Amino acid sequence: MYSLAKYNLLKKSIVKVKRAELGYFPTKLHKLENLAKMYGVNIYIKRDDLTGFSTFGGNKIRKLEFLFGDILEQGAKYIFTYGATQSNHAMQTAIACRKYGLKPILYLIDVINEGREKPRANMLLDQVLGAEIKLIEMEASEEEFEAMYRAQDESQRYAEEISQNKNDYYLIPPGGASPKGTLGFVNGYLELKKQEFEQNINISDIFLATGTGGTLAGLTAANIFLNDDINLHGINVSHKDDSYLASTAELANDALSELGVEVGVKREDIKIDSSYVGEGYEIPSQAANQAIKIFAENEGIFLDPVYTGKAAAGLIDYLEKGKIEEGTDILFWHTGGTNALFAGPKILGDLLS
Ligand SMILES: *Cc1c(COP(=O)(O)O)cnc(C)c1O
Repeated sequence: MYSLAKYNLLKKSIVKVKRAELGYFPTKLHKLENLAKMYGVNIYIKRDDLTGFSTFGGNKIRKLEFLFGDILEQGAKYIFTYGATQSNHAMQTAIACRKYGLKPILYLIDVINEGREKPRANMLLDQVLGAEIKLIEMEASEEEFEAMYRAQDESQRYAEEISQNKNDYYLIPPGGASPKGTLGFVNGYLELKKQEFEQNINISDIFLATGTGGTLAGLTAANIFLNDDINLHGINVSHKDDSYLASTAELANDALSELGVEVGVKREDIKIDSSYVGEGYEIPSQAANQAIKIFAENEGIFLDPVYTGKAAAGLIDYLEKGKIEEGTDILFWHTGGTNALFAGPKILGDLLS
């Protein structure tokens, strides 16, 4: 059974961790009245698309609060991170850097081969922010994760070259999915539990997009530690191999270790559904585009084609297939990313047709 004593324990240990104040929390939790009527299920939404502090916030801000707590304590000046050219995480890292007068250095993998010319969406914002961009072009027959390793290798060398000493630089892993970063979503879960209590609702299921896994790891860690009965559904947005469950479980455990808490999250505890990836990461799918239209036309809420659209496609499919009991309270965790609506046609696909 859900344990209030454990909630208090987790809360007490997490407030002791150094944290930079980047976003506006708690983010709103509200009902999607029109979709709820359409599907006969009480669908709520957690507005992490509105984390602030810039116009384009998102789920990475929760992680970056804890990462920048660490960065500021270390006194690092050069902040490195990695992602695809349209990475929300990279752009949000650049925002955070600029708030603290630090230098963002972004290794961006050109997964969809969009190049540097005529930048749009996040690539545009990265350049407005004056981030140093290292564009990593994919070599023939190279896979995404291989290009990522290559980028991490190169960045390590560059970091050492420009730094006087080891504390001058800080490498943030892709998606901010380190144990420290993951604490952001352990904390996010606690934030949700409080809102659930205040609004007198009883959430049975949470749907969210899962990429690097940090968000899901943090939520799962708290969920398991609290013995909570909420079912998590990490809707997968990229093809992943079998190691994903184990590494996400390990991330959950390592995050709790930061708090001096042991719980033993196992790979079976990581709940993902890979039915809605479509062709792959950053490749548009018809179901995601449909979900974007459904949310926009019925609620006036924007989703994005890479993450939240695919997660919402999963949610809608579950609803249409009757996998969720009528009258229950469920939650869609909006993780942001809507600036991808201003990316090119390679990302948007046939959204308007
Ligand atoms: C990064 C991201 C996710 C996935 O979060 P992970 O912690 O990497 O799994 C989901 N939605 C959006 C909009 C994102 O930018």
